[in-house]
This record gives sequence, C-alpha cells and structure tokens, in this order.
Amino acid sequence: QPVIRLAGIRKSYNIGTEVETEILHGIDLDIAAGEFVALIGPSGSGKSTLLNIVGLLERATAGRIEIDGIDSATQDDAGLTRLRNRSIGFVFQFHHLLPAFSALENAMMPGIIAEGRATDAHEAAARELLRRVGLEAHSHKKPNQLSGGQQQRVAIARALLLGPRLILADEPTGNLDTHTADEIFALMREVNRERGSACLIVTHDPRLAERCDRAVTMIDGRLRAD
Ligand code: ADP
Ligand code: ADP
Repeated sequence: QPVIRLAGIRKSYNIGTEVETEILHGIDLDIAAGEFVALIGPSGSGKSTLLNIVGLLERATAGRIEIDGIDSATQDDAGLTRLRNRSIGFVFQFHHLLPAFSALENAMMPGIIAEGRATDAHEAAARELLRRVGLEAHSHKKPNQLSGGQQQRVAIARALLLGPRLILADEPTGNLDTHTADEIFALMREVNRERGSACLIVTHDPRLAERCDRAVTMIDGRLRAD
C-alpha cells in the first residue's frame, strides 16, 4: 500500500461568479514508503496547488486522496487536521520559522500544535533532530542569528519531529546558494532513507531532480511520468 495515493484529482477556482477555471485536470500519483519523488514543471503549471491538496491544506474539487490507506473524504475537518499534523511534514522555500522562538522551540512546534503543550519527549526528539542536522550548538539561537542554510535545517528538523510518513517540500532549496542547496538536498535524502518516509519535492533544479528516485512533470495541470 502506498503512503500516498492520488486518483483523479481535479481543482477548479471560481473567478468572479460565472467563470470556472480548472487548474488540475485529473492527477493520478502513488508514492511508496521510502520513495523520493521530484515534481518539476513550468511556473503556473499547478505544482504548488497539487502540493497544497496533497498536504490537506486545500480541498480538491474532485478525486480521491489516501494517506496510508486513510481516505481523506472519510474525515471531518478535525480529522483532516489530525491526519495533517501526525502524518505530514512540510518544508517550504521560505521556511516560516517563528522569529521570536529559538531553533529548539521552532523544531518542537509541531508537538506543541498537536498536543497543546511541549512535552519532554518532544524536547528530546527536537534535540536529537537538531543534532542530526548539525545544529546541536545553535539550538538556543533565534532564526535571525542563523544563516539561510541553518534556518532550512531547522525547518527540516521541525518537519520530522512527529515522524511523518510523508514529507512535502516546495522548493526547499530555492533561496540557497548552489553549495548549500546541495547540502540541504543531501540531508533530506539521507533522513528520507533512514526513516523510510515518502517524499514529494517541488524543484526547478534539474540537477536535484536527477538525484531523486523518480521525477514527474506537471504541464498545464496534467502529470507526466519521466
Ligand atoms: P506552480 O506551483 O506550478 O507555479 P500554481 O499551483 O501556483 O503553479 O498555480 C497554477 C495555476 O493556478 C496558476 O495559473 C495560478 O494562477 C492559479 N491559481 C493558484 N492559486 C489560485 C487561486 N487561489 N485562485 C485562482 N487561481 C489560482
Ligand atoms: P508560487 O507557486 O511560485 O509559490 P504562488 O502560489 O504565490 O506562487 O502563486 C502562483 C500564481 O497563482 C501566481 O501567478 C498568483 O498570482 C496566482 N494566485 C495565487 N493565489 C491566487 C488567488 N487567490 N487568486 C488568483 N490567483 C492567485
């Protein structure tokens, strides 16, 4: 059973009151545990929209989304939120770290959100992940005291805190220089191998796409396997 299964995903937006524009025209995609998949394609083709739908941040207009065999259509809003918090880790280009909190606190944030408070287990897991991404000595620092690459490492640690089955990344290396981008990508690849999560990563960088298990291309709201 795949970690994520998409079948016939469509998405339309109403612009004004009469015109409906379809952005995604029936997307099918399975990603297995441990698989690292690149999502490539031109700007405006629908990649971010698909990622938001897979991440249960936006609803599809039609089609089915299963995460670890759970059909999202069977879940109410609270169920979707639970599924999202427990099963999915997000890494974005502009990492959205909270500026008032330390690297450690940011890494613990999914635990605080899921359970309403920080537990010792969350702190231990966050410390271990910060060690894993090479930030042990920086855990007390605020985001503005860290480099872009270090901030992205914190975002990766945060995404992994609750042991998600699925990692979604929207251009996670987009604002980094080539060397740092390679390092961050290699780190994501390593933790993906260690933990066996499924990974879907939007990238414009063909060098990085080549290093994934598989690449799929979005063109005008349709997916093509490469
Ligand atoms: P990509 O990530 O590949 O650049 P997007 O998923 O961001 O593409 O956008 C795909 C298309 O959907 C674009 O034409 C964009 O203008 C449109 N779009 C995205 N979000 C909305 C929205 N909330 N309302 C209307 N159109 C949208
Ligand atoms: P990216 O995919 O590069 O992160 P965005 O998601 O910000 O970019 O937006 C992609 C495109 O979708 C842009 O062209 C933007 O104008 C369009 N878009 C985003 N939200 C809306 C919206 N609510 N209504 C119409 N178009 C939108």
